[in-house]
Amino acid sequence: MQTQLHLTFEQALLDAARVARDSLARAKAEAKRQAELDKLGRRLQRETARRERTPDQVALCGLYYYNRSPRTRANGSFWHNCVRCGKALQYYDTYEEAKTNNRECQNPSPARL
Ligand SMILES: [Zn+2]
Repeated sequence: MQTQLHLTFEQALLDAARVARDSLARAKAEAKRQAELDKLGRRLQRETARRERTPDQVALCGLYYYNRSPRTRANGSFWHNCVRCGKALQYYDTYEEAKTNNRECQNPSPARL
């Protein structure tokens, strides 16, 4: 049995104030949660963009080093042939793999140097 400390209208005012306080706190928590989610989404977008432009494949021709990233692979803006000898480049996922398959860069004509 709860003893009545306030008059009825006082209790009603207190209840209304508590309800207002609770709903404000809930709204604040929801806004904070949404802000955190937005932040995470933007972070993931940046991370994806960074991975897209980071070179992940390597090609070697003699001393000439070439690489390409998922983005350059998608739009085709990477070196397809060696700038010195014109040989078609083979890209590998690791530098060691490219090194073992590396051939000498032989310039077909000295005039192209
Ligand atoms: Zn070459």
